[in-house]
Amino acid sequence: MEHVQVLIAGGGIGGLSAAIWCQRLGLSCLLVEKADHLGGQLLQIRNEIVDLPPRVYANGSALLDDLLRHPAIDAVQPRLEEAIISIDVSTRMVKTTKSDYRVDFFIAATGASPNEIPALSGCKKVLTTSFSTTAQADMLSAQDVAVIGGGDRALESASNISRFARHVDLLVRSDHLRARSEWIARLEKLPNLRVFWETEIESYEARQDRIALRLRSASNSQPAEIVVDWILPRIGVHGNSSVFSPLATFGDAYLKTDEFQRTSASEWIYALGDVSNGAPYASLSLAVGQAMKAVKHISLQIQQP
Ligand SMILES: Cc1cc2nc3c(=O)[nH]c(=O)nc-3n(C[C@H](O)[C@H](O)[C@H](O)COP(=O)(O)OP(=O)(O)OC[C@H]3O[C@@H](n4cnc5c(N)ncnc54)[C@H](O)[C@@H]3O)c2cc1C
Repeated sequence: MEHVQVLIAGGGIGGLSAAIWCQRLGLSCLLVEKADHLGGQLLQIRNEIVDLPPRVYANGSALLDDLLRHPAIDAVQPRLEEAIISIDVSTRMVKTTKSDYRVDFFIAATGASPNEIPALSGCKKVLTTSFSTTAQADMLSAQDVAVIGGGDRALESASNISRFARHVDLLVRSDHLRARSEWIARLEKLPNLRVFWETEIESYEARQDRIALRLRSASNSQPAEIVVDWILPRIGVHGNSSVFSPLATFGDAYLKTDEFQRTSASEWIYALGDVSNGAPYASLSLAVGQAMKAVKHISLQIQQP
């Protein structure tokens, strides 16, 4: 069984930054990434990145190209297509899809994933979360689109899409919107948008090139079915924490940490980036900063006599 000083789970910007800090502070580390590539959500960012000082990046891929050129990443040699399966809090054993490790310290940087709508499983006309309504909404020109959700992202998407689409239906599960007032005010001015309150999708059916959505609603006055060209779910995200089941969570499966990024269950398990932050604070700069704090704290633990 391999012994690892610091095992990092996740090759997004948080995990990669932690690897850089391990190199900088002279800690030996191993990074495992579930996917067959590094970058995590960076590859989904099609917008310009203006909030990771000091540079402005055209998109997430441009940032990732820069990051992967960092000499420390090459030195770490991340292991791809290897996912954490379980972690034993009492024995410090970590199981992955390829191996078992005995670790001194563990960093969970497994990020967050979009929530899914089971009733739409297998539907080919669902736009993925990486669909950018700022950069790609023109693809929906003269199409009918159902946007699902009642938060900021749903309203922003509906507003962006409405500039090109023929018609936008916003399906909201509750009887109110959770979005900021500026988005709600903008929504009210859109002539080609209608809102379905207290509405959920029950099932779907392909109709030639379009999709019929069967709706379940608290109101009798709303149609039980709509037919659209595309569906864009914007119903939030959850932390990728299911494999860390003994650790305490908050909100949508985000790992709880203290001020040094240590998780609840143990002194040797840290979490950083989106898996520990919750949707409102998900950001590149926070993940990078937390990586420094976690690894610095680990190095101070090791130095202590
Ligand atoms: C469309 C979009 C636009 C955005 N725009 C901005 C922006 O302009 N500015 C900004 O600051 N932020 C932006 N963000 C948010 C930002 O991308 C995230 O906050 C950041 O990338 C999170 O990094 P992370 O390393 O914590 O997680 P992630 O990037 O999610 O990386 C986690 C990695 O862990 C891997 N993983 C998951 N489970 C396991 C497992 N069991 N074992 C091993 N590996 C695993 C995943 O495959 C993934 O590669 C945007 C996000 C999106 C989706």
